[in-house]
Amino acid sequence: MPTAADETFTRIDYLARVMKAPRIRESARRLADQAAAQAWTGPQYLQAVLEAEVAAREASGAKLRLRAAGFPAVKTLEEFNFDHQPAADRAQLHRLAAGGYLTEAGNVVLLGPPGTGKTHLATALAVAACHQQIRVGFDTAAGWVTRLQTAHRTGRLDAELRKLARLQLLVIDEVGYLPFDADAANLFFQLVASRYENSSIILTSNLPFSRWGEVFGDQAVASAMIDRIVHHAEVITLKGTSYRLRNTTMTTLPSARLEQQAD
Ligand code: ADP
Ligand code: MG
Repeated sequence: MPTAADETFTRIDYLARVMKAPRIRESARRLADQAAAQAWTGPQYLQAVLEAEVAAREASGAKLRLRAAGFPAVKTLEEFNFDHQPAADRAQLHRLAAGGYLTEAGNVVLLGPPGTGKTHLATALAVAACHQQIRVGFDTAAGWVTRLQTAHRTGRLDAELRKLARLQLLVIDEVGYLPFDADAANLFFQLVASRYENSSIILTSNLPFSRWGEVFGDQAVASAMIDRIVHHAEVITLKGTSYRLRNTTMTTLPSARLEQQAD
């Protein structure tokens, strides 16, 4: 003979399925035991079930956004050694990680030599954004341009730019490693212009702005681009030598020397 409680849970199971919240099957039972043990009121029990569901949804949403973003590796601010990189201000980066700049379509620019933590910090800020329900896309500058070139060739450039506009944060890594021809520079400019004052960019470059003319083959294009990027941006310039080489000396480790050159 099913008890009244059994029948209630059977009905809750059905309602949870209809609501497309199947996890409630488990949390309703688990929290009912806790409610009895701690003499919760009805509203307190309901609140606990809903809190558990919202927390689970947020966690699985973040997981999906992290996967969709395409990070080469997940990095966090907690893993970043600020003592090794005094040019990075811990308070500023934690403030940025809180995401205020995203609501204002602000940008973050990380400049500095290879291995100084640009990609790490860009990723850490973008990972934090994923946890704040922000849709993120990560790629190198060359990677974004390749996507736009493919779209352009098939007459889908506008559609692709609109698709990218739905990502509230774009990470553009490694501007400057590869120079762009005129077509690529033009597409990259369109990408930057399409986001101006609408959605955020985190951009990294090993080159100071003064040398971007070399990347885009044209000082005027570079200036117009820099203008739009830095208008609402925090620019962080990292310094020093590669973190990868911190415990090595160039003379004792030839492979490290090769790695640094390859950067
Ligand atoms: P960049 O993009 O400036 O070339 P990366 O961010 O890729 O440099 O850093 C190179 C490697 O060193 C990465 O694995 C990164 O996680 C690590 N790294 C760099 N700086 C730091 C730091 N200050 N603390 C911890 N790890 C760091
Ligand atoms: Mg990098």
